[in-house]
Amino acid sequence: MAFDIEMIKGVYSRMAERVDAARKVVGKPLTLSEKILYNHLWDGNPTTAFTRGKDYVDFAPDRIACQDATAQMALLQFMQAGKSKVAVPTTVHCDHLIQAKDGAAADLRQANSVSSEVFNFLESVSNKYGIGFWKPGAGIIHQVVLENYAFPGGMMIGTDSHTVNAGGLGMVAIGVGGADAVDVMAGMAWELKFPKLIGVKLTGKLSGWTAPKDVILKVAEILTVKGGTGAIVEYFGPGATAMSCTGKGTICNMGAEIGATTSTFGYDESMERYLRSTERADVADAANKVKEYLTADPEVYANPEQYFDQVIEINLSELNPLLNGPFTPDLSTPAGKEMGEKAKANDWPIVVEWGLIGSCTNSSYEDLSRASSIAQQAIDKGVKMKAELGINPGSEQVRYTAERDGILEVFEKLDAKIFTNACGPCIGQWARYSDPKNAPKNSIVHSFNRNFAKRADGNPNTHAFVASPELTAAIAIAGRLDFNPMTDKLINEEGEEVMFDEPTGWELPPKGFEVKDNGYIEPEADGSHVQVIVDPKSERLQLLTPFTPIGDDIKGAKLLIKAFGKCTTDHISMAGPWLRFRGHLDNISNNCLIGAVNAYNQQTNFVKNQLTGEYGGVPDVQRQYKKEGIKTIVVGDHNYGEGSSREHAAMEPRHLGVAAVIVKSFARIHETNLKKQGMLGLTFANESDYDLIQEDDTFNFLDLNEFAPDKQLTLEVVHANGSKDVIKLNHTYNEAQIAWYKAGSALNLIAAENA
Ligand code: SF4
Repeated sequence: MAFDIEMIKGVYSRMAERVDAARKVVGKPLTLSEKILYNHLWDGNPTTAFTRGKDYVDFAPDRIACQDATAQMALLQFMQAGKSKVAVPTTVHCDHLIQAKDGAAADLRQANSVSSEVFNFLESVSNKYGIGFWKPGAGIIHQVVLENYAFPGGMMIGTDSHTVNAGGLGMVAIGVGGADAVDVMAGMAWELKFPKLIGVKLTGKLSGWTAPKDVILKVAEILTVKGGTGAIVEYFGPGATAMSCTGKGTICNMGAEIGATTSTFGYDESMERYLRSTERADVADAANKVKEYLTADPEVYANPEQYFDQVIEINLSELNPLLNGPFTPDLSTPAGKEMGEKAKANDWPIVVEWGLIGSCTNSSYEDLSRASSIAQQAIDKGVKMKAELGINPGSEQVRYTAERDGILEVFEKLDAKIFTNACGPCIGQWARYSDPKNAPKNSIVHSFNRNFAKRADGNPNTHAFVASPELTAAIAIAGRLDFNPMTDKLINEEGEEVMFDEPTGWELPPKGFEVKDNGYIEPEADGSHVQVIVDPKSERLQLLTPFTPIGDDIKGAKLLIKAFGKCTTDHISMAGPWLRFRGHLDNISNNCLIGAVNAYNQQTNFVKNQLTGEYGGVPDVQRQYKKEGIKTIVVGDHNYGEGSSREHAAMEPRHLGVAAVIVKSFARIHETNLKKQGMLGLTFANESDYDLIQEDDTFNFLDLNEFAPDKQLTLEVVHANGSKDVIKLNHTYNEAQIAWYKAGSALNLIAAENA
C-alpha cells in the first residue's frame, strides 16, 4: 500500500548507467548528492556537467508529500490541470491544523470539528486523483514519510520546509512551494539551481548525554541560519555511520534552519535496520544491490576538500549537549554553567516552565525511549517535576508502539500531557494562553527545530531553547535553564541529593513496531466518480476558476503601489491569522500587499486610489480598479518576492487584477510563480527608472504584441501633468513561459493540452 517498490527498483535499475555517465561528464569521482541529482535528470542520461550554484536544471522527483495547510491551494490548482491522476506518487498529511491544548483525544476531536471541511476536501481530492491520504492524528508528515516512503537514493519534494527530514534515509528531499508541487503532480519537470555542496565529516562517537540533535545544533552554530543557503549538506565519516537512521533524520530536518537546500547521508547499516524494522525489507534488499551508488565514491570521503565547496569536521567525542536559542536556532550554548551566565547577562528567565518533546524533528521511538529513561529516573529517585512536560509523538505507529512498551506511561506518571501525533506546539497551535500577546516573559525548552518569537505559543515573551529530547526531559524535571545533568545534583522528595545517570534507550523497538490503525487511506484505483465538494459559502475553501489571459493590449493601467525597500512574500501575502484562508483565494486576497511599504508615504496598506484621489488599503483600492475594468501594475525594489515560496503571493495580485509587477530585481522563485500565474514579471532595464514612477502615473505597454524571449518590452509612463517617459523593461520569459502568459496561466495551458 504505502510505498511503491517497483518505482524504487526503477530508480535503482537506471542508477549505474546514469551515475557512470555523470562521472564521465563531470570528470571526477562523485559525491552522493551528485549521484542522486544526476540520476534524477528530467532529460535522462547526463550529457552536461552542471555548474554548482549557477545552472538551473530540470529534475524528475520520485515522490511528493503535502501537509494540510499547504496542500489546500496546491490541490485546488492541480484540479485545474485537467488530469485524472497525479503523475508521481503523492501523499497528503493532516498534521498542521490540530491544536495542542487538553491532550490527544480531546484535541483531535476539536480539530475534526473545527477543520472538518478542510480535511474532507483534502480526503476527497486525494481519493479522486490517486493521492495517499493520512488523516488527522496519523502523524506528522516528515515522520510518516520517513517510516513509509523515504528510500536511499530517492528524490522527493514536499510542500513544507522540513521535507528535508527524509535525508536521514539517504534521500535528496527538498521543501518547495505549492506551485512547484503542482507542476510535478501534473507531469512537468521541476527546476532547481544545481546546489553547492557542503561536506560535514563526523569523527568520534556520540556518547552519554550527547545526541544527534547536538550535531545539528553545533552545525547551526558554525554555519548560522544562512550558511547552508543554496547548498546540500552531505554528512559522512565514522560518526555518521554509527548513528541511528532517525538520528540522521533529526540532523537533516534542522538543515532547514541553516537555510540548506537539503541534507543527506550515505546508505549504511542503520538505514538498513530502519527499513527492515518499518517493514520494508524489500527496499533494503534492493538498496543493498546498488550500495556503491548510494554513497559517495571512496575518493570523495578520503579527500573531501577536493570535492565539496566547503568542508566542516566535527569530533562527536568532544561534543557537549547544547541549548540553542532563544529566538534563533543558531545561538548555541553548552548546557550548564555557561548557559546560566548567558541567561543572567541577557536577562533570560532562568526558570523553565515547560519542556516539550516531539515535532517532526525529534519524535522517533529512539527519542521517546531515551527521554523516558530520564523521566523514569526522576520517578525512581523520587525527584519531583518542576516544569510541565508535553509530548507529541511523530506518528501513530510510534505512539502505539511507545504506549505498548510502557514509554508513554512513564511520562504520564510525571503528569506529562500527551498531545496528538501532530505539529501542535511546534507551529503556534499550542493553546497555552487565552491572550498570548500579553502573556508573561518565560522560558521553555523543546526538542523542535524552530524557536523564533511566538512560534510555539504566540507569546512574544516566550524564550524558547532547542535541545535534544533527553536534555529537554532533564531540564524540565530540574526546572532550570542552567541545569547540567552531567554534573548537577537535584534534591529529591526525601531531601537527598541525587543525580541523573546517562540516558539510555532503544534505536528501534525491541519487539518491533506495531500499530492498529495507522491512519492511512488508500485512494481508489479509479477516482473518476468521486465528487469533490466545496460549500460555495465556505470561508476557508473556494474552487478556483481559470484566470483569463491578460492579453497583449495593456493601456491606461494604473499604479497600485510602488513598494519601497524589502518586499518579501510575507509582505505580499502575510501569514499569521491569514493561514486560515489558504484554501480560499478571494478571502486570502484581502491580505494582498498589506505589508508592503508605500514609497510615497512610507506607510503600509495605505495607497492612493487614482479614481477618487482618496487613500485606502491595497486590496480595497485594487478591488475598485478591478470593478472598473482597469488593469494595474505593482512597482518594486530589489529582490522583490524573497522569502518563502508561497504561491499565494503571485495568485492574489493575479486574482485581484494586477497585470504586471515591475521591479529592480526579483527573487527567482517569486518571479517564476508570477510567470506560472500568467502575469508579467519584469525588471527595469535601467534601475533608476524606478525613481521616474510617480503616484498618479498611467502606463501603456507599447509592444507587448511582440513579446518574445530576449527582447525588451517598452513601457510608456504617462505622468499626471501629461509629460511622458518611455522606458525599457527586461524579462526572462522563454517560449514556454510566454505561452503560459498567453494562455492565462501554466495550468490553463496544461488543461488545454489535456482537453
Ligand atoms: Fe513543521 Fe513543526 Fe510540523 Fe515539523 S512539526 S512539519 S517543523 S510545524
